[in-house]
Amino acid sequence: MTAFGWTETGRDGRARAGVLHTAHGPVDTPTFMPVGTAGTVKAMTADAVRSTGAGIVLGNTYHLMLRPGAERVEALGGLHRFMDWPGPILTDSGGFQVMSLGALRKLDADGVTFRSHVDGTKHRLTPERSTQIQHALDATITMCFDECPALPADAETIARSMRLSMRWAARSREAFVAREGYAQFGIVQGGVEPELRTESARALQEIGFEGYAVGGLAVGEGQALMLGTLDHTVPLLPWNRPRYLMGVGTPDDLLGSVQRGIDMFDCVMPTRAGRTARAYTARGTLNLRNARHAADPGPIEPDCPCPACVRHSRAYLHHLFRADEILGPMLLTWHNLSYYQRLMRGMREAILAGRLDPHAAMLRSGWADGAAEAAARSAGMAGTRAARRDRGTAADDGTAVPASPSLGSSLPTVAAGDDDDDHAPVGGASVGRIVAAQDVDGRPFLEHGPRRDDLADAGSVASDLAGGDRGRPDPEDPAASERDPAAAPEPANGTAGRGVAGTVDRIDPPRATAALFREETDAAGADDPARPRGPRTGGAR
Ligand SMILES: [Zn+2]
Repeated sequence: MTAFGWTETGRDGRARAGVLHTAHGPVDTPTFMPVGTAGTVKAMTADAVRSTGAGIVLGNTYHLMLRPGAERVEALGGLHRFMDWPGPILTDSGGFQVMSLGALRKLDADGVTFRSHVDGTKHRLTPERSTQIQHALDATITMCFDECPALPADAETIARSMRLSMRWAARSREAFVAREGYAQFGIVQGGVEPELRTESARALQEIGFEGYAVGGLAVGEGQALMLGTLDHTVPLLPWNRPRYLMGVGTPDDLLGSVQRGIDMFDCVMPTRAGRTARAYTARGTLNLRNARHAADPGPIEPDCPCPACVRHSRAYLHHLFRADEILGPMLLTWHNLSYYQRLMRGMREAILAGRLDPHAAMLRSGWADGAAEAAARSAGMAGTRAARRDRGTAADDGTAVPASPSLGSSLPTVAAGDDDDDHAPVGGASVGRIVAAQDVDGRPFLEHGPRRDDLADAGSVASDLAGGDRGRPDPEDPAASERDPAAAPEPANGTAGRGVAGTVDRIDPPRATAALFREETDAAGADDPARPRGPRTGGAR
């Protein structure tokens, strides 16, 4: 059996390449972990996930404890066998989801009591129970059970929350059963307050863990603050232990974080985008529902080895999404995970070659070029539409062109309509709110990547529990099904007859930028004091 550990194979500035050694095999770092919320990376077989180059996946304690139940998974041989993933699995602690349940959960110093989004039954999670569940699942890497306050929050609230999380970290460690090749990670909290981050990092190292995660970032603070917090926090962590940035993020977030010494990431962005017709590429993102792809015989990316690119055209994928065929999300998830894994492999190789900075410049230049092209396209389309409007005709996709004079060239991304998010680059801060709007897609809370799908799950349930059809997805509104559960104003009053899970598995036709802007508003949540908390981690920008 292999001892758990991380060994360096190369470094370039603060960035490092290495190998994570685990009981379930080695993983090259930096690495991206696809999110397998409920024992599956949505729309992908385990073989398909492996073929993208993924070495480790993430599972969600909250979902698995409720359905099918941790003890059942254990009786069936553990999560590796259950989902046919013999490689390493990291499980989150469930804390983030239960905190996100808003009125459905009650927090005390000992733990959290909450109602299941599946059937309304009452459950309790404590540091001990969370650790026990992750053990039953046979998680290769167990995460500490921690707490995050609703955001925005003042420094005092963040400090109180962080200290509670540190007490829970000690209890989580106490409950952890050490085994050869297995690990438990502590989570550094403290918001964007340097002194709190320092206190948290020290407290965790006094307890002692096999690895350290940075949580509580990408909650709307913006990429600059996130990276600034990494600048402060990462050097506080021991060099010889793996470092995991939770729930992040966009390709540009990953790049900036790798440059600051992060080794591990998870995020639902590539998988969720794949289910909503958005493709990540070296030149930004594409919306394959857009009419301009309808007759395009070329691949999404000519140099991508995934089946979507090798065997199919953009036109075919466009057709699949327009026809709501399940194969569309399957192929595009495959492509997006391939893109993320190629991105990580490129960074690893660049670190080993000592050329990460020029490699980063090349990546960012590609994203920027794609963004510029799309902006030009949008501007051109806005002009064309204005001309059509003058002639009283419709857009080429049959959509009536809104006659509002406000939708002029000053808002090309909205006015473009059909081409909506084709313009969105992959980057972070430099592209501002457009990216945020795109990236918050579907996440009721800004996001913790691995937990985002979960949140959508929990969110749909919470709104379900809140009663009536209010919480049900509006078939005409792709954003509706994935809104913040906290937005449902009433407390739980029953679950009968509501198909909660349907929202999660449901494939929403991504509509337009307008919907994305709505989501952005939702995710920001500034006008909703009832919101339990922002996504504590995740590529929220
Ligand atoms: Zn591809």
